[in-house]
Amino acid sequence: MEERDRREVIVVGGGQAGLAIGWFLKRQGRDFAILEAADEPAAAWRERWDSLKLFTPAKYSGLPGFAFPADPWSYPGRDDVVAYLSDYARRFDLPIELGSRVRSIRAEGAGYLVELEDRAYDAKQVVIATGPFQTPFVPPIADRLDPGVAQFHSVAYRRPQDVPEGRVLLAGGGNTGFQIAAELSASHDVHLSIGSRQKPLPQRVLGRDLFWYLDKTGLIRKDKASRIGRRLSATDTLIGSRPRTLERRFGVELHPRATRAEGSTIAFADGTTLDVRTVIWATGFRSDYSWIDLPVFDADGRVVHARGVTKLPGLYFLGLTWQHTRGSALIGWVKDDAEFIANRIAALSGSEADPPAADRLSTVSDEPSR
Ligand SMILES: Cc1cc2nc3c(=O)[nH]c(=O)nc-3n(C[C@H](O)[C@H](O)[C@H](O)COP(=O)(O)OP(=O)(O)OC[C@H]3O[C@@H](n4cnc5c(N)ncnc54)[C@H](O)[C@@H]3O)c2cc1C
Repeated sequence: MEERDRREVIVVGGGQAGLAIGWFLKRQGRDFAILEAADEPAAAWRERWDSLKLFTPAKYSGLPGFAFPADPWSYPGRDDVVAYLSDYARRFDLPIELGSRVRSIRAEGAGYLVELEDRAYDAKQVVIATGPFQTPFVPPIADRLDPGVAQFHSVAYRRPQDVPEGRVLLAGGGNTGFQIAAELSASHDVHLSIGSRQKPLPQRVLGRDLFWYLDKTGLIRKDKASRIGRRLSATDTLIGSRPRTLERRFGVELHPRATRAEGSTIAFADGTTLDVRTVIWATGFRSDYSWIDLPVFDADGRVVHARGVTKLPGLYFLGLTWQHTRGSALIGWVKDDAEFIANRIAALSGSEADPPAADRLSTVSDEPSR
């Protein structure tokens, strides 16, 4: 029989969202555990490319209670983020259980049964903080490419030296596609296919960082239900990159959406074609909540919630893209939603608070942007 334990609250996922809510739960003196699938903290960041620099300066990259230890206007690198998150967990002695992938969550009695491979927990309340970027998405046309063409998702990209010599196509016009294309352009013949244009925003304006303006104007905290929030959430943004700069400064050739593939040839929406040696699919991620056996998803599998609170008492999501604001899935602002949910947890622990009315629930976008 599997080992079974009890916690007041279980947090699934030990990335920045799981750590942020952990900080509030610890302050409340709650009996909780953070279950993390990976064997090391900051797992998602460890899987990102070597040269990655944050687009949020250190000043806006801190979790509650402990600022990012760097010049506030510098842009920390990937390894700095890994070190910061690992240190954060240690510093506050957060109860993280590594190597603990949750296999299923079901309602049982007045709470939830959280099952892992080797053990299970009964919990009154559960926070799902498994990240906005879960399953790498590769379009079906990838299957038509010849085995002689090297192809992989951007999540597997680390450094230029690992990419075979010859022509490379980056498919995907988001921040990831632009940044990898710029880096590879020093050593490869690089092409970028842009499926849908995103709005370019400069990293710096009049000597100040973009996020300084977003913070000072309050735009980063605009509720997605507000008029301006609706407008902002409708467009993905490209931070610090522009198509024209990529073409002129980095010599990268731009193409529209890749629509077909055959052998080593990619065809684009404008009817042109390109022979390639390597394709890097910077085509984003999809959510995978197939392991959650609870009625909190719409017909398209998207979470139905109001600011992370689902209709099931004691079941919450944290860290979703535009969960509440543009800042919801960013390191420096996830604390706002974390505090909100921690307060809901406290309220439900003290008294049997009512679940939110069904008409207040709204659906989040399933198309994460970073
Ligand atoms: C390339 C890139 C660059 C980015 N740059 C920035 C930036 O500059 N500034 C910024 O603020 N944001 C940035 N972001 C956005 C965001 O901050 C990150 O995506 C961040 O990792 C999200 O944190 P999270 O805790 O919500 O999710 P994650 O970091 O993905 O953490 C989720 C955790 O849950 C675990 N998990 C998943 N499923 C299970 C399960 N079933 N059981 C147990 N554990 C599970 C995973 O192992 C993982 O550790 C960037 C994102 C990307 C992709």
